[in-house]
Amino acid sequence: MPDSVPIQWLARPSAQASARPASQNYQRHIHLLYSPTLGCNLSCRYCYLGEQTSSAQIKQDAERAVATLTHALAKLEEAQVLAFNVSLHGGEVTVMPPAVLEQMFSLISDYYLQHFDALHALGHKKNAPHIKTNLFKFASQYDLLCKHKVSVSASIDLPLALHGKYRTTRSGADWLEKTIENLRLLAKYPHPKKISATISKEHLADIPAFINDIWYIHRELGFDMNQFNLMFAFASDLNQQEQGALVLEPASKTEQLALYEALHAEFIGTELEDGLRRNWFDEFKPSYCTNAYNCGERFYLLQSDGSVYSCVRGQGIAEFCYGNIFKDSIETILANGARQIATIHQQYGLDSDCGSCSHLSLCHTGCPVVKFQSKQAKSYTCDLQKHIYRDNPLSYPADTPARQQAYLRAYTHGLHPALAMQQALQQTQQQTPAASVQLPNDLYQDKNTLAALIAQDEVLQSLYSAQVFFLELQEEIVPLSSQLLKTNSTHYIIAQGDRCVIHLPRALFAVACDEPVRNTLYLQMLRDTLVEYGDEQRSKQAHLFTWQLYADFLRPSDKMGTDYVMTDLAPLLAMHRDLFLPGVLNNLFFTTQYLRDYHYQKQKQNAFYHIQAINLPFQNLEFFYL
Ligand code: SF4
Ligand code: SF4
Repeated sequence: MPDSVPIQWLARPSAQASARPASQNYQRHIHLLYSPTLGCNLSCRYCYLGEQTSSAQIKQDAERAVATLTHALAKLEEAQVLAFNVSLHGGEVTVMPPAVLEQMFSLISDYYLQHFDALHALGHKKNAPHIKTNLFKFASQYDLLCKHKVSVSASIDLPLALHGKYRTTRSGADWLEKTIENLRLLAKYPHPKKISATISKEHLADIPAFINDIWYIHRELGFDMNQFNLMFAFASDLNQQEQGALVLEPASKTEQLALYEALHAEFIGTELEDGLRRNWFDEFKPSYCTNAYNCGERFYLLQSDGSVYSCVRGQGIAEFCYGNIFKDSIETILANGARQIATIHQQYGLDSDCGSCSHLSLCHTGCPVVKFQSKQAKSYTCDLQKHIYRDNPLSYPADTPARQQAYLRAYTHGLHPALAMQQALQQTQQQTPAASVQLPNDLYQDKNTLAALIAQDEVLQSLYSAQVFFLELQEEIVPLSSQLLKTNSTHYIIAQGDRCVIHLPRALFAVACDEPVRNTLYLQMLRDTLVEYGDEQRSKQAHLFTWQLYADFLRPSDKMGTDYVMTDLAPLLAMHRDLFLPGVLNNLFFTTQYLRDYHYQKQKQNAFYHIQAINLPFQNLEFFYL
């Protein structure tokens, strides 16, 4: 009987604290199933526990059942973990002696009472034990169950004829008549109760009979079938080993849908519509563990031998065993759960349908045990789920494309990190350089303009100043400006023998330079014949020569006053006259060695400066030489 766990009791961390130890601020909240024994008094054809139900040592289980649960609850308390639901599951719980059942019921009720405040703060109203049972001993234990107000979930087969055929006693006997009597009794049971049925392919061979028996139980046996839910069988190795050729085949996705449609056609508009829409297909909705992001973070099953498994579906499967309460710490067991379930999801990968599904954030791709058994990455009830989502668009809205993509990214990073890394690598490899020049957006912020950068830097102010280099050309004094800042350009004509003297303030040699004696007047002569330079293969004016004169060897200026120095450039130009071509512009830059060094240092330190001062920034003179 594959069974999964409702998630609606899931707790959110409580902000409240209490002085009572049992109302401490719990770090984790978990759903705990307790399976005191794997032993069972029936021999159901599709039982996924396999031979564990017959080999269990029921006597030994009974002797330790209460002690193990007591130990586990104490250990959880110590680890600040609150079990917000403690439910009993089999095998068959009711094969335990009444005295043991009584103690377990009391233990669970006491636990709920002791933790009333914490549970109440979490919105949890549960106050009585809950058992899953095959009803075989229901009549004999009726009073005991009543006394402890136990909530009962009974498993049957539908159509009922198959209950007789597949849900037999250990000796293979049909006990359908007794089941029917117990269902009548269950109908009168005054505490919470429900019925569940697990469906295989054969159960759907006669859907009218299936429907008739729902009405029969509801109308004639008096059990309110609004409190009903169904599950679908899935392939299980342990079941296969036990049943061999007799194993029942799971219903196909089409058959699951056919049942969904048939039940809607029959029961919409009847007194069972509420149950149909609210409960019957609950297991396939986001409120169940099967839709959890990672069920190993919240759902655990404890056996009386101390073993902790994922749940009833995982019992007896090594991959779903998280440890033992007598040997391992709670922290280790919980961490193993999350890690092992993530590993199972990763093992089967992310199905492309799930990757593009607008309900991934609700479904999370299904139960890991079923994935493990069926070796598929996608929920075995995917199509059915999509019908449920379609029919309830307000309850289960589809994600918008943007949210779907965002959730998929987060889901892949969280649960499939290797896949996320692989995708990131592929994207990197597929990236081709943009066809257009990419400039950073913040290049255009005011604080990053060249003017702003100069305004923030005193050295740059000298470097770019239009009041430091004055060229005396014949009778004229020409103040030189930075080629980057000037808004127009003037082309001069210099003939051999013309007066050509540069004047500059002596103080300029002290800018960005601790020892001006080491500084030089630095001239660079370029010519407007293009050459390609460097890694970027830029076409630039050709460099003709560089000339430096140490600061101490400039003469006092005869035109600009005592604070200025000068040097005659006419001989320098005359010496290089062969380099100056007719009709070709020449470009002479003026700076000092230390200002030039400062410019290149600034380029390294500030990308915004670099990109805007990619051409020479110094004061210049453009001229033709005759
Ligand atoms: S493996 Fe996880 S999802 Fe599947 S039934 Fe168990 S707890 Fe639920
Ligand atoms: S494709 Fe199906 S299994 Fe995958 S997330 Fe969507 S509903 Fe779930």
